[in-house]
Amino acid sequence: MQSVTLLCVSKTFGSDAVREAHAAGEHCFGENYVQEGIAKIDTLADLRGALEWHLIGPLQSNKTRAVAERFDWVHSIDRLKLAQRLSEQRPAHLAPLQVCLQVNISGEASKSGLAPAEVAEVAQAVAGLPRLRLRGLMAIPEPAGELEAQRRPHRALRELRDALNAGGLALDTLSMGMSADLEAAILEGATIVRVGTAVFGARNYSDGQ
Ligand SMILES: *Cc1c(COP(=O)(O)O)cnc(C)c1O
Repeated sequence: MQSVTLLCVSKTFGSDAVREAHAAGEHCFGENYVQEGIAKIDTLADLRGALEWHLIGPLQSNKTRAVAERFDWVHSIDRLKLAQRLSEQRPAHLAPLQVCLQVNISGEASKSGLAPAEVAEVAQAVAGLPRLRLRGLMAIPEPAGELEAQRRPHRALRELRDALNAGGLALDTLSMGMSADLEAAILEGATIVRVGTAVFGARNYSDGQ
């Protein structure tokens, strides 16, 4: 079986929780909101070399510079323009920014992400940007109860990745699976699972974070 990276989704939890998780052996942390993530990166500056910070939430064009300067990965690229800005703004002294294209794999009207049919063209263009490294695809499938129903969208994302690779790309990453569906995602080839609740406990959005 493929090796699977645990991305601990620390949104709404404080830097102490991240420090504790790092002490327990975790290295990769995911944030949804740019400002919240940067505040934690700053507070945990002493651990910067030991941690990998991933942006997994929607990104607005006016926040790309901060992300290009501070994060290691972005999973939520949903348009070429965003990738072009990140590439232009990625500082030369840092390694290329590692990115995934977000795909609206369940075709939900309310979800962000590229439609599957748009992915090949955007992927070719992003793969050619100098300061980014296109690693793969990310999805947040529609919730489903049964394991088999959970597996279907993850399988579709894997097949899309395989088709892109057959077309000449070399994508090694499938960022899929959260607390509720990570088993299904791993069975379908996830290489990064993004897990919040199952690592840190239930989130509380009402305490001002
Ligand atoms: C919050 C979030 C997660 C983690 O969700 P859990 O259900 O708490 O595991 C994963 N991915 C994205 C994009 C998220 O916003």
